[in-house]
Amino acid sequence: MITLALSKGRIFDETLPLLKAAGIEVLEDPETSRKLILPTNQPDVRVVLVRASDVPTYVEYGGADLGVTGKDVLIEHGGAGLYQPLDLHIAQCHMAVAAPTDFDYQKAVRQGSRIRVATKYTTIARGFFAEKGVHVDLIKLYGSMELAPLTGMADAIVDLVSTGKTLKANNLAEVEHIMDISARLVVNQAALKLKTAPIRRIIDAFAGAVQVPE
Ligand code: ATP
Ligand code: MG
Repeated sequence: MITLALSKGRIFDETLPLLKAAGIEVLEDPETSRKLILPTNQPDVRVVLVRASDVPTYVEYGGADLGVTGKDVLIEHGGAGLYQPLDLHIAQCHMAVAAPTDFDYQKAVRQGSRIRVATKYTTIARGFFAEKGVHVDLIKLYGSMELAPLTGMADAIVDLVSTGKTLKANNLAEVEHIMDISARLVVNQAALKLKTAPIRRIIDAFAGAVQVPE
């Protein structure tokens, strides 16, 4: 049995064409099914649905042989024990620092002020500001980062941005582009040794189907 960990939503939706290229079709729709384990047209391949931030953990501890997860999640997890053979170029967005349009971020940086930054991505944020030599107090949140500056709790946020519409709707503007983000295939290293042929087949099919945007 080969088990693939996916999260509902864009990761699941955007992985479907790659699975199809590997001859794998998921037999139930996660949006309507209550099942957490979904069968596929291949009796020895199944999909488990887990929280996006839990995908690397499932693969690390062998709850799944493979998984698809954002680079953001992977960096925050640490990636220990995971083989990362492929950038899938799906779920593309970028990590950014954003601040209220009336907060002079560049001036605060120039003056060496301590900046209060709210984020779910503390590892990425800590690394970015340390490299830049900016003093920050990080405030860990689990969602809706854009609310933090609006309530006066933070000066800025570190969050994922795709269109920028959410930032704009909350009077925030991007002030730093931290890194491009896309989803990666991750593989349990022990599983790869034990089930080399079927896992290799999936990796190769995904590799052949990846569409690199220009
Ligand atoms: P959870 O709410 O369970 O913690 P999540 O909100 O991180 O999960 P998704 O919104 O499905 O889950 O995001 C999954 C992955 O997709 C993210 O880790 C990121 O890599 C990528 N992603 C997030 N937001 C966007 C976006 N607006 N556009 C493109 N990709 C995105
Ligand atoms: Mg989300």
